[in-house]
Amino acid sequence: MNAYQQFKNNLPHVDAREDFQISPYTTFKVGGVADVAVFPKTLDELRQSILFLSQTMPYAVIGRGSNVLVSDKGFRGGVIFTSKLERMELKSNVLIAEAGAKVKDVCNMAITNNLSGIEFAVGIPGSIGGLVAMNGGCFNKCIADVVCYVIADGGVYNRAACNFNYRYSRFLDGEIIHAVALKLKVSEEDVIAQKVERFTKTRLKNQPKGNSAGSIFLNQGYFAGKLIDQAGLKGYKIGGASVSEKHGNFIINNGRTAQDIFELISYVKETVFKKTNIKLVEEIRYIGEF
Ligand SMILES: Cc1cc2nc3c(=O)[nH]c(=O)nc-3n(C[C@H](O)[C@H](O)[C@H](O)COP(=O)(O)OP(=O)(O)OC[C@H]3O[C@@H](n4cnc5c(N)ncnc54)[C@H](O)[C@@H]3O)c2cc1C
Repeated sequence: MNAYQQFKNNLPHVDAREDFQISPYTTFKVGGVADVAVFPKTLDELRQSILFLSQTMPYAVIGRGSNVLVSDKGFRGGVIFTSKLERMELKSNVLIAEAGAKVKDVCNMAITNNLSGIEFAVGIPGSIGGLVAMNGGCFNKCIADVVCYVIADGGVYNRAACNFNYRYSRFLDGEIIHAVALKLKVSEEDVIAQKVERFTKTRLKNQPKGNSAGSIFLNQGYFAGKLIDQAGLKGYKIGGASVSEKHGNFIINNGRTAQDIFELISYVKETVFKKTNIKLVEEIRYIGEF
């Protein structure tokens, strides 16, 4: 019995697909086939799927695929996609969202209810689960600043228990986020609107267009984009992948293979290391074998 049949025999009510092409579900638009792709629609289905997969095969989780590079060889095992877990609710100033809710929808719900604290995330693609797992942020703010608690495989974690650090949380080590609660502050409509406008303008000015995964490398005491620029790598191409002319830390993909992107990342790391002795470290996450 193959992985898909095993899954379907045990959880026939959960939406699962066999030999599922992952590429359309990532912002780089690359990635091969997953043996089984699982699309839970409720938190119960998510829990049942994780329990079953953890006992039977390797598995990975993808939110909205905006910070991952998925191998052309795909993934042998199960990939859980959280994109159908989108419910959100407000309890006073606490916004509770299922992991797959779009960052955009979470921001809109906050803003339309005059709640402040998440304006920096307007324009960040992806799911709220992915953003919390990555502790994503910008403009000197990060999502950990507003996390109240996270519900994950192991139960409920308060902010301190999430082990947040720069672009890191405990949830990058295998545990899946089911839902998050963000504690926001009531504010004036026009104050929120001004912040959103300022952040949006800056993002539009600096962010390259095209298929990318945002920043490729972490900024750890240096700006990776600046080092890449100084190494003369802006515009450098391997196959369909090129270092953005606009922002050295972005790779734009016009091709169809993850391998080009992977090789370009390796080349950039090697070149920057030769010139500066600094080892760039990826922010993006790899799924599958490279
Ligand atoms: C144009 C562009 C601009 C961007 N700008 C920014 C920015 O300003 N700041 C920033 O921080 N990021 C930015 N990003 C990166 C990305 O959008 C964020 O990290 C995003 O919120 C990730 O969410 P996702 O659902 O797409 O995660 P995915 O790409 O699906 O996953 C990312 C990682 O999180 C894990 N993960 C996903 N969901 C869960 C879950 N429920 N539980 C546990 N782990 C999970 C995955 O396994 C993977 O390791 C940008 C990306 C793009 C394409």
